[in-house]
Amino acid sequence: MDELFADVVIVGFGAAGACAALEAADAGAEVIIVERFAGGGASAVSGGVVYAGGGTAQQLDAGVDDSVDAMYAYLRLEAGDVVSEATLRRFCEGSREMITWLEGNGVPFEGSLCPHKTSYPSDAHYLYYSGSEAAGGFRDAAKPAPRGHRVKGPGTSGKMLMARLKAAVRARGIRVLTQTHARSLVQEDGRVTGLVADTLSDAPASVRARHRRLAQYAAKPGIYVPSLRKSLHRRVERFERAHGRELRISARRGVVLAAGGFIANREMVREHAPKYRGGLALGTSADDGSGIRMGVEAGGATGELGRISAWRFVTPPSAFLGGIIVDAAGRRVIDESRYGAAVGEKLIEDHESKGWLLVDAPIVAEARRDGRKQSQWFQWLQLRYLLRRGRVVGETVEEVACRAGVDPQGLRASVEAYHGDRDPAGKPVEFVRRLDNPPYSLIDISVRPNLGYPTPMLTLGGLVVGEDTGAVRSTTGQPIPGLYAAGRTAVGLCSRSYVSGLSLADCVFSGRRAGINSALAQGVLDKNENVF
Ligand SMILES: Cc1cc2nc3c(=O)[nH]c(=O)nc-3n(C[C@H](O)[C@H](O)[C@H](O)COP(=O)(O)OP(=O)(O)OC[C@H]3O[C@@H](n4cnc5c(N)ncnc54)[C@H](O)[C@@H]3O)c2cc1C
Repeated sequence: MDELFADVVIVGFGAAGACAALEAADAGAEVIIVERFAGGGASAVSGGVVYAGGGTAQQLDAGVDDSVDAMYAYLRLEAGDVVSEATLRRFCEGSREMITWLEGNGVPFEGSLCPHKTSYPSDAHYLYYSGSEAAGGFRDAAKPAPRGHRVKGPGTSGKMLMARLKAAVRARGIRVLTQTHARSLVQEDGRVTGLVADTLSDAPASVRARHRRLAQYAAKPGIYVPSLRKSLHRRVERFERAHGRELRISARRGVVLAAGGFIANREMVREHAPKYRGGLALGTSADDGSGIRMGVEAGGATGELGRISAWRFVTPPSAFLGGIIVDAAGRRVIDESRYGAAVGEKLIEDHESKGWLLVDAPIVAEARRDGRKQSQWFQWLQLRYLLRRGRVVGETVEEVACRAGVDPQGLRASVEAYHGDRDPAGKPVEFVRRLDNPPYSLIDISVRPNLGYPTPMLTLGGLVVGEDTGAVRSTTGQPIPGLYAAGRTAVGLCSRSYVSGLSLADCVFSGRRAGINSALAQGVLDKNENVF
């Protein structure tokens, strides 16, 4: 079996792995990245939104007034006690520097502020309210500010983020072993000293090329067509079984697990979050929990595995914020200006996953007028689906309720309460609109398998890590020597509640932390010592 050596070995070349590698290399470590496919992971197919604030250059350019305290106050409401106050404060205090660090590594941002509320801006805007900052219950507790910093690039800009981070990794001369699948960690006297992987590096060029292409298509468009992904991934696994060669890589200082989450592992999702069925796996097929599994096998503890972010966005168009979301009994579900994952969670946890958006004729007309210009192409397809196939219409509130299978009296009561002096769900007054003009529409936004309006889901929990170091904690709370975790393999800032940008921001924060600490850790091995 071949052996390789490095100071720091990183599993996974997504955002967390790339950031860990850059910091470890800058701290003087020799680094090897082990990546199952070509690199990029979920980060490359993501929207590329990074949550940042406290007065970034982009916020200043846009004339936005923000402060570290306001950012902290808002995130405390979202994150709860998933991380300590000191860690959250450190994250907020370092937020401006995080953006300049990314810019220094070639990642472009722009302070072009989106004028309307949306779940993801079109290519005209790169700064927006990406969470629930302006929603009722939040705006009074924390001064709202737009903090969604979308990487500047056309379409979904995760590809730009990862293209630039990959280029920065290449520029540092960091060695990346692509098409190399980490299988298990090597532990000696409790310390993690390396890992065992299967690599396709010696496989025929035609096999490597086909493996690469299949994995690429499984990531996208496979993300939108689960059956296609499944069949492509089966072929990927066949290539790996037939042509993989075992390889050992020893780590003189540490191994960083940055292998993403487990949304592609149905058994794990069923075990930890049984209510979260019928969603679209928001990630790649490598989000199979292998990083978390390896950490657990080494004695690591896990946390927040039951936390899943399930997205039910009703914007764009921003006009839909004027409607109300109700359940099968016609009961109001939530303040519609909350972030889409808060809507998804409420539907799943409290309303048997069923929900409808009630709007009237002027809102539908406005949605038709503004929908295209406020949307990316995939949002436009969804809006068309919702307006054409997901909608029933009636001349009265009661009639539309009967057509949709919603309780008419319950719906009437919700509309009347909404028209009262103060919205009982707490939606801010600028989003509240009277629903007076027939015909009425109920748009089905239930969480169920639905290609026209899928519910994207991503896992938030992972290995428990020390918040100062990123070192994986054992089930007794002790750090496991030589083992670190970052990104969605670890518990992080977004593990209780995700708003757009908070996962990538946490990948940068936790990746950098794990990279620096692993590089500076006291290594037990001499540079030239062969540990195997
Ligand atoms: C469509 C979409 C849109 C999103 N939009 C946003 C957004 O705008 N903002 C935001 O904050 N979040 C967003 N998210 C979520 C976010 O992208 C992910 O949570 C984040 O990218 C995870 O980064 P990571 O580095 O932990 O994992 P990844 O980026 O998935 O990287 C993990 C890497 O590890 C590799 N790997 C896995 N297992 C192994 C193994 N055993 N051996 C070797 N390699 C392995 C994988 O191939 C992969 O390249 C979005 C996600 C999707 C899918």
